[in-house]
Amino acid sequence: MARIDALVKSGVVNPEGFYTLGGRLAIDFANSYKRIGRDREGIASFDDLLTFMKSHHLLHEDEASDLHMFHFHNPTRCQGVVETLLGLRNSFRSILVDVAAGWPLNPAFLEEVNSRLQDFKSFHRIEPTEEGMALRTVIDEDGPEKLMFPILHDIAAFLTSDHVEKTRACASEDCDLFFVNTSRNGRRRWCSMSTCGNRAKVNAYLKRQEGDA
Ligand SMILES: [Zn+2]
Repeated sequence: MARIDALVKSGVVNPEGFYTLGGRLAIDFANSYKRIGRDREGIASFDDLLTFMKSHHLLHEDEASDLHMFHFHNPTRCQGVVETLLGLRNSFRSILVDVAAGWPLNPAFLEEVNSRLQDFKSFHRIEPTEEGMALRTVIDEDGPEKLMFPILHDIAAFLTSDHVEKTRACASEDCDLFFVNTSRNGRRRWCSMSTCGNRAKVNAYLKRQEGDA
């Protein structure tokens, strides 16, 4: 537990162990196959998906408990949402491998995102907030499919932003986390200094010691 606390403190993961170093939801979602404190898939079940959404502040506790009940009655439909998202994550990760290597976006993936976005109807609403009133876009969907929307929306926003060319894969050989390189000098090489960056520094130091001996 001590280890995860330190990582939460440095912004590497959230308290549920999901990585938060991607720089935006789409990338954190791409990295969600890994989870600190877990050997297996980070989103292995519908409950894991609810945890992912809650821990990224995309789902209120009451909505989550409604969906939890829904899952109890309709496990198949909920499992379908999990599988669709994991399939989308796979395709998205291969897009990130491409763009991190400087390749152009695969148009087939843009089509996939477009066709999934097309399934959602939305409307606008004025809602009170802590600061006053805000105009909100509301998704006209109460079922578990609504969980896909914020993820799809941020993937689409990512694909149309300058973050595409700033996407990097961690320089560590045994790490396949992605991040958006928004460091001012553009030199960030590792997913985080608290994990891979630090290990690389230690390894470089040990190598130097060996050389001196
Ligand atoms: Zn790394």
